Amino acid sequence: MSLVFQLAPQPSVPVLGQAEKFPVRRIYCVGRNYEEHAKEMGFTGREPPFFFLKPADALVVVNEGATGEMAYPSLTQNLHHEIELVVAIGTGGRNIKAADAEKHIYGFAVGLDMTRRDLQNEMKKQGRPWCIGKAFDESAPMGPITLKAQAGDVNHADLEVAVNGAIRQSSNVSKLIWNVAETIEHLSSAWELQPGDLIFTGTPEGVAAVVPGDVLVGKVAGLGTLTVKVNPAK
Ligand code: MN
Repeated sequence: MSLVFQLAPQPSVPVLGQAEKFPVRRIYCVGRNYEEHAKEMGFTGREPPFFFLKPADALVVVNEGATGEMAYPSLTQNLHHEIELVVAIGTGGRNIKAADAEKHIYGFAVGLDMTRRDLQNEMKKQGRPWCIGKAFDESAPMGPITLKAQAGDVNHADLEVAVNGAIRQSSNVSKLIWNVAETIEHLSSAWELQPGDLIFTGTPEGVAAVVPGDVLVGKVAGLGTLTVKVNPAK
């Protein structure tokens, strides 16, 4: 097939211990999926999970041991970090039951759902879509994928992010309101999942602002470290 122009290559993420990279199709994200974070956002209780998306080319892929870089985005004065466990889907499906979800998982990674909080809050207030707050360029730094079999018990893994060496968020994946399997069940009832899909599973409490020059170090136990530097705005 001939095209009128060539697009940038499909975004892809390295897989630890493998030469082949994981090509990325879609990035699904879960909102307010830790109780203490829901509270700090002004909500309480267990509500059904809800989802938003980021474009695949919003990824900032950071290799093992490297420091990724993102520019401070435009239009905001309140860029927040959200440390998250990322699930990589290897086998697609629709209406997947939680009990069957595990076989659809390829691996796991550490991700940051970077958020223009001031713009997101304004959109919430006006009942408008979150896109401008969530789905901007370079809004999804993530580290390499660890294969499921090598990832250990991610459902009970500690996760944290430090900014310039000070811990900002520290929790455990077991505190997810909707765990990974339940999230896959809900998500696959709304969209048919495909190989290459990523799921950012939500963030615990402690979200806060970063500024140019800050260095974020995110961890999910068993999945390595994600280091990202925030550069001045372009
Ligand atoms: Mn998030």
